[in-house]
Amino acid sequence: MRLAEIEATLPADGAEALRRAAEAAGLHTRRVEEEALLLYAGGNAPRVAREFPLLSAQPSMGYPGDKYQAGLEPIDVIEVTVARLVADVMGARFAEIRPTSATLANLAVYTAFAQPGDTIAVLPDWAGGHLSHHEIGAAGVRGLRVVELPYDTEMLDVDLDRLSDLLDGERPKLVVIGASLMLRPHRVGEIAARVHERGAHLLYDASHVAGLVAEGRFQTPLRDGADVVTFSTYKSFAGPAGGAIVADDPGVMERCSAAVYPGLTANYDVGRLLPLGEAALAHARSGGDYADRCIANARALAAALAAEGLAVVGGGTDSHHVAVDVRALGGGTAAARRLAEINILLSEIGCPAPDGPDPAGAIRIGTQSVTTQGFEPADMPAVASLIARGLLEPTEALRAEVAAIRRKHPP
Ligand SMILES: *Cc1c(COP(=O)(O)O)cnc(C)c1O
Repeated sequence: MRLAEIEATLPADGAEALRRAAEAAGLHTRRVEEEALLLYAGGNAPRVAREFPLLSAQPSMGYPGDKYQAGLEPIDVIEVTVARLVADVMGARFAEIRPTSATLANLAVYTAFAQPGDTIAVLPDWAGGHLSHHEIGAAGVRGLRVVELPYDTEMLDVDLDRLSDLLDGERPKLVVIGASLMLRPHRVGEIAARVHERGAHLLYDASHVAGLVAEGRFQTPLRDGADVVTFSTYKSFAGPAGGAIVADDPGVMERCSAAVYPGLTANYDVGRLLPLGEAALAHARSGGDYADRCIANARALAAALAAEGLAVVGGGTDSHHVAVDVRALGGGTAAARRLAEINILLSEIGCPAPDGPDPAGAIRIGTQSVTTQGFEPADMPAVASLIARGLLEPTEALRAEVAAIRRKHPP
């Protein structure tokens, strides 16, 4: 096992062990910045460095003007300002920016809208339903009963025809849409109408697409009827690691906020707020340009992968995501490992294939990092060719080709 292997070679001296860990950090950074194609969907190329490192160890509990600690008036200014910027860019009235991850943001929404023993309805794992939506994750921690939404593998969305029956039969308090693979927008309005008719709430988890939503692209989940939107702040949103919740209804936001504090956080990393505000402002100023470039790169890549003979899930994409069905190539886990050998970095994902959904049958690509680095649609045929060849046999020569493409867009 990897863990035992590392432990066995760990230097006894703590300082020496830490020096080796720092060396590993340096190696990884160099690899990502100079040699690798960074195609993970759940991350981004860093854009803003942190000023004011002191803020990361700054205790701050409670609401602006009503803090547990005295003397935090300047911190109130940071919190109110960044929450405003995040709410505005997400098209929302209110934002809760303290959750340290989207997993905790989701748990806060569960806490607000469902009691232990209640039922929630979520997307299956093979359709991109996230760990935090399922009993193995945050939903289980809240003691919720989880049922799966009916899914249309042709539309790549909730099956609207079967949704009403599911809602009538299972009576979920909360329905969760938004997934770890987002090739098509959800039909939020139609889903929301059916959910609200039955007195339930609708959560849209925009973890992956928040950067697109923030630029007015892909879809407008709150305007279309979702009661609350959660997201990771470091994926397409391109901010520091963390989570956020946005909503329009003050009552909804109050319940979610109370779950965040005092429910699930006490102090938190105030140091990430200014970079989060920068990320929000960058989306506002981009006016759709960054989102459009991410989507154009994804579409060019999907077309080039299909031209290489690979099975592109859904035949293409409306977002910055692309997925390739690799069930015939040993599955997503093995495929992602083969590509990592030539420094193409991505991960497995569920495959919503009409002829046999598979929770790890695909690989998933996100174009947000390479877009940040300056890659353009014209680069995508070469990237697709490397993916296609690397899936068959990762060789030293391919690794050198990957590094050469990366160096066309230096850090
Ligand atoms: C990544 C992801 C999350 C979890 O985000 P963290 O910030 O890593 O906790 C939640 N939901 C979906 C759909 C995701 O893809």
